[in-house]
Amino acid sequence: MLNRIRIVLVATSHPGNIGSAARALKTMGLSRLYLVTPKKFPHLKAKELAAGADDLLDNAIVVDSLKTALAGCQFVVGASARPRDLSLPGLTPRECGEHVIQATQKGDVAIVFGREHAGLTNTELQHCQYHTMIPANPDYSSLNLAAAVQIFCYECRVAMGGSIEVTTELDAVASHDEVTHFFDHLEQALLRAEVINPVAPNKILP
Ligand code: SAH
Repeated sequence: MLNRIRIVLVATSHPGNIGSAARALKTMGLSRLYLVTPKKFPHLKAKELAAGADDLLDNAIVVDSLKTALAGCQFVVGASARPRDLSLPGLTPRECGEHVIQATQKGDVAIVFGREHAGLTNTELQHCQYHTMIPANPDYSSLNLAAAVQIFCYECRVAMGGSIEVTTELDAVASHDEVTHFFDHLEQALLRAEVINPVAPNKILP
């Protein structure tokens, strides 16, 4: 249901961030980018940083208000770097992914991101039912916009069951030192058996 998720960027200043965000979406299998009054778009920098996710830029929907971007959505979460004194309930990024994926069963959902310098205004956050914050260094908690987008897209993917399947028990894996000793031992044995050349151990003797 990743195709029911709108990633909404509000008043983005740097076109490079729009490109990087498009790339973040595409790597996680999302595709719907909404841009509310971007400062510079379309732009070469956006294309450069999209690195192959140009199709998402081409299909991005540019609108002049957040209200328009959210029209038709039945579930909206606002991403904010600052805990707000708002009545909005908060979600961790993991809970956000889970709620979003669950809500896609009923229709379109949106995750809203703010401007680089000032985030989302309180009025913009009031369009959201929940807010979500990536736990970070309390003295430096504001991520780059596209980095924040990447984390939420990843969480949506994980919630879809897209996590890597771990097939090997960690205990059953040889340690790095054990592997190194194995190859040292193998080399010594091959030298003694005169299978490889002591001058050029990568060469097998004729
Ligand atoms: N200086 C702004 C931060 C802007 S970063 C402020 O203080 O609010 C641009 C956007 O990236 C934010 O509006 C938010 O949507 C997202 N973002 C950055 N860091 C985040 C964090 N720790 N948690 C959630 N969203 C974050």
